[in-house]
Amino acid sequence: MSLTMPTNLSTDVDHTDLFIGGAWQKPASARRITVRSATTEEIIGSVPEATEADVDRAVAAARRAFDDPQGWSTWDPAERAAVVEKLADEVQARADETVRVISMQNGMPITIARALEAPYPAATLRFYADLARKQAVEEERPGIFVARTTVRRMPIGVVAGIVPWNVPQSLTMTKLAPALAAGNTIILKPSPETVLDAFILADAIEAAGVPEGVVSILPGGRDLGAYIVSHPGVDKVAFTGSTTGGRAVAKACAELLRPVSLELGGKSAAIILDDADLDLEKMGQSFFASTLANNGQVCFLGTRVLAPRRRYDEVVDVLATLMRFSPVGDPLDDATLIGPMASKNQQERVANYIEIGKSEGGRVVVGGSGRPDGWDRGHFVRPTLFAGLDNTARIAQEEIFGPVLTVIGYDDDADAIRIASDSDYGLGGSVWSTDDDRAMAVARGVQTGTIGINGYIPDIGAPFGGVKQSGYGKEFGAEGLAAYQQVKSIYHFA
Ligand code: NAD
Repeated sequence: MSLTMPTNLSTDVDHTDLFIGGAWQKPASARRITVRSATTEEIIGSVPEATEADVDRAVAAARRAFDDPQGWSTWDPAERAAVVEKLADEVQARADETVRVISMQNGMPITIARALEAPYPAATLRFYADLARKQAVEEERPGIFVARTTVRRMPIGVVAGIVPWNVPQSLTMTKLAPALAAGNTIILKPSPETVLDAFILADAIEAAGVPEGVVSILPGGRDLGAYIVSHPGVDKVAFTGSTTGGRAVAKACAELLRPVSLELGGKSAAIILDDADLDLEKMGQSFFASTLANNGQVCFLGTRVLAPRRRYDEVVDVLATLMRFSPVGDPLDDATLIGPMASKNQQERVANYIEIGKSEGGRVVVGGSGRPDGWDRGHFVRPTLFAGLDNTARIAQEEIFGPVLTVIGYDDDADAIRIASDSDYGLGGSVWSTDDDRAMAVARGVQTGTIGINGYIPDIGAPFGGVKQSGYGKEFGAEGLAAYQQVKSIYHFA
C-alpha cells in the first residue's frame, strides 16, 4: 500500500500571524503549534500558539465590538444575515481546500470529509442567517397580571467557542453561525491537532467582511481553553469535547454563574430489531455512517450494536462482512473508508480498549491488536468487531472513539430499550427495522438526545444535543439560535 504524500497543499501552512479581532496580528509569543499528518506523521504546517496575552487582546476587541452602541450587536438582523451569508459563500469557496487539510490533519477519509465538512459549515451559516432574518426582535404577549408584555430578543455578549479535532469545521460552525446571526462576538479555540483548517476559516471571515473585533481564532491546548472559559470578559461558553473536559468547563462556569452549553461524549446504541433488513447492499452504507464514520471518531456513533438473540450470529456475520470490506488506508484516497486515528494518543487509547475488550472475554471477530497490514507508520488501528460481551463490559460502557464495535444480544424490544438506555451517556443512536411504527416506539423509549430510524445523521433544522453525561444545551434548529440569545420582558400597564 502506498502513501499519498501531501504534495499539493495550496495554502501557506507556516502561518506567522494570529487572527485576533478580525485582523491578522503578531502573536504575543514565539511559541508554535506544529501539525503532523495523521497518515505519514510528517509535519504539514505550523501556526503560532496563542497565549493568555493574545486572549486578553481578543476578548478586549470582542468586548469593544459588542459594546459599541452602533456596532454589530445593534445591527438589524437582516444586515447581519447578509454578512453571515457572505461568509457561507466564502466558506463554500474554500471547501475543497478545507476538506483536504482536515483529512491530512485528523485522518478523516476524504469522501467522508466531502460529505460532512464541505456541506455542513456553509449550510449551517445559511440556516442561521435565514432564521435570524425571519425572527422578530420583539414580540407582544398578552398579559395575565399586566396589560401586555414586549419580549425582546438580544445577543448575550462575548462567546467563547471551544471545539475538538474530530469534525472541526462543522463543530466550529455549530457555535459561530448562531452566535453571529444572533449578534454576539466570539472567540474560537480550535484543537491543536486541527488548527490549519481554522486558518482557512479565518481567511474566509476576513474576505466576508465580518466587522472588526467580532471574531478571533486562538489556537491552543486545554490550558488556553481554561483561561478563555474563565476570562472575566466572556459572557457565555459553548464547549464541544470530552465529558472530562466538559466537567472542568462546567465547574468553572458554575463558579462564575456563566451560561454554558456542553456537547460531550457518547456511547450510543444501534438497535437492530428482529424484522430488520440486513441486506448490506441496501443498508450497508447507512449502517457504516451510523456506526463507523470518520474512523469511529464521532460522538454520536452507535458503537454498541444491539442484536436480537435469535439473529445474533447473523448480525455478527453481516457486520464482519461490512468491516472486512471497508478499506483501511490513506484518507486522501477516494477508496478509503477507514483512515488513521487523529493522533498518537488516540491510537494508543483505541489500541488499549481493544486489549481491554479481549481481557474482558470478548471474542474478536474482525481486527484485534496491532496495525493493519502495510501500515507501519501513521496512527492506524485495526477496525475491530467484538462479540460475546454484554452491556456491563467496559468496552460497552466507555467511549472508545475509534473503529471498534461490540455486538450485544437482547431478548425483546423492551430489553433493547433498557440496554440502550443503560449508559452514562445519551447522545445519538439508531433503530433498524422494516416497521416504522415499531421503530418509532423503540426510538421514543431510549434515553438519548437524538436517534435515527434506519440511519443516523444530525439535521441542521432540528435540535441536537445529549442527555446525562453527554451534556446539556442544544445546537442546531431554532433552539440553537436561542442558545445565543437572552430575552428581556418589558411589562406594559396600559
Ligand atoms: P477534549 O475535551 O480533550 O478537548 C476538546 C476541546 O476542549 C479542545 O479544544 C481542548 O483543547 C479543549 N479543552 C479540554 N479541556 C479543557 C478545559 N478544561 N477547559 C477549556 N478547554 C478545554 O476532547 P477531544 O479529545 O479533543 O475530543 C473528543 C471528545 O469530544 C469525545 O469525547 C467526543 O465524544 C466529544 N465530542 C462531542 C461532540 C458532541 O456534539 N456531543 C462532538 C464531537 C466530539
